[in-house]
Amino acid sequence: MKKGKNMLMKQKKKFAWWKEIRYFKPHKFDSPDKPGSGKLNMKRKFMFTLDMIRFMVGVPMHENSGFRTAAYNKKIKGNPNSAHLRGWGADIRARNSRIRFLIFEAAVKLGVRRIGIAKTFIHLDMDPSLPQEVLWPY
Ligand SMILES: [Zn+2]
Repeated sequence: MKKGKNMLMKQKKKFAWWKEIRYFKPHKFDSPDKPGSGKLNMKRKFMFTLDMIRFMVGVPMHENSGFRTAAYNKKIKGNPNSAHLRGWGADIRARNSRIRFLIFEAAVKLGVRRIGIAKTFIHLDMDPSLPQEVLWPY
């Protein structure tokens, strides 16, 4: 019983950094098929960077997609080696040229080196296992 409680405390501590994220709630990064998966899987470094991007952009940002389980990624026909699978990336809604530019500019300034531009969103990721300094359309 006591051991279980300690484990729980440790788990809580491990994810305490989410409290320092000012603009995003962990559940928004859940894979839709797995509640709670955003908090457990999104990478700290990426989330702090995204939070700073949001601060620099200065207007609300909406996340379309964060963490994805393999099953969900497959279902939506995501890239089989997507950064979303490892919690290193997110798709941020960007429906006009101004917001698209502001997010892009802030991301590059803050060291994001993998960016995808779609008509309605921007994919940002910092996955160190994937090629760096790449920009792609959808
Ligand atoms: Zn994406």
